[in-house]
Amino acid sequence: MSESPESAPPPKAPTTALRQRLAELRGPSAQPHPLDARALAALAANPGCRRRALLDGAGVDKSALAAALGSPSGYGQSQFAFMRGNAFEARVKADGGRELLRLLGLQEAGEVRLPELGASGPEGRAARTALALREATGAGAVSLLDHPMLALEVAGSPAYLEPDAVVVHPDGRWTVVEIKSFPMIDASADAAKVGAAARQAAVYVLALERVAGAVPGASVAHRVLLVCPKDFTNLPTASAVDVRKQLSVTRRQLARLTRVEDIAAALPEGLTFDLDGRSAEQLCEAVEQVPHAYAPECLAACELAFHCRDRARLAGAVEALGRSVRGELGGLSTVGEVLAAARGEAGEPDDPAVAALRRAAALRSEALAPAGVPAARGAREAEGAACR
Ligand code: SF4
Repeated sequence: MSESPESAPPPKAPTTALRQRLAELRGPSAQPHPLDARALAALAANPGCRRRALLDGAGVDKSALAAALGSPSGYGQSQFAFMRGNAFEARVKADGGRELLRLLGLQEAGEVRLPELGASGPEGRAARTALALREATGAGAVSLLDHPMLALEVAGSPAYLEPDAVVVHPDGRWTVVEIKSFPMIDASADAAKVGAAARQAAVYVLALERVAGAVPGASVAHRVLLVCPKDFTNLPTASAVDVRKQLSVTRRQLARLTRVEDIAAALPEGLTFDLDGRSAEQLCEAVEQVPHAYAPECLAACELAFHCRDRARLAGAVEALGRSVRGELGGLSTVGEVLAAARGEAGEPDDPAVAALRRAAALRSEALAPAGVPAARGAREAEGAACR
């Protein structure tokens, strides 16, 4: 377990001018949509997407925007899953968190402190949490912080994050607890879901390290506690998940995000994503002003995925085929260019991507040539069919 708190300044509040610009982008009557750790983990997974960085930074409700654009998202949690998750979490935390502490191996903890974390607004709650963490670290007892609030600066905007719980150990260690409603069967759970939970928990660890850097004796555990229902019951079970890899990826990717103010500065005056009184065409025009970086992974991570995929396909962008295919194609950026290169109508023959495409086209033609027809004729017919 590596536990080295990093000292970093607290998130800076955006300037008044930036706040105003972001409010304009969101629309005067729209409440800012808060960023959560799941959204930050997705943002970190696609740091090249200025569209998402801007919309998230401005607090635009991307689900509502996607619906107004005519491409409603299939991404997100159903109401049923949400309620089931809440009921399971309440069960895990019942009786002052005794069950949760047992899962952490702290059943003999004696007195357990449950600090009060209420305050007005996310800034107030984050300040209250920081104070509670500082007091708990010096207390020499176990403290359970239920839904603390953590602040993290992301691309120039403060994001407020709410882990399910943070446990402060008597030795000053802080452990993030993630409670999920997907089952752990025979001590193992769906790898994709565990991966998503680990990426989310890594964002919390990152935010906690910012606080720990200013608290003497504090350290943040890089193994988080993942709590899930056991087998097909509603009984909780847990597993310690090492998030060091996710933490270093998230840290690096979030640092690479272009600052929201730089993205906003490059946009035309008066541009807005305000849904009030705007047609799908007007909104589409506004969204298309901000460059995107579509990849098929967006389908599992972003509300605008169907819209961006349609636009990428319309433009014939090879990104729509996936990052690995994009990487293989070198300087060829559209499907049209790829086909022209394969047909020998464009591209440098000594370009490895072009040479590979021509070789593949020739092999395909040979394979498709009807029996008894010379390969050259079969090749011409097959190429014609492939490009129609
Ligand atoms: S779906 Fe669009 S806006 Fe969302 S991350 Fe992908 S490219 Fe960016």
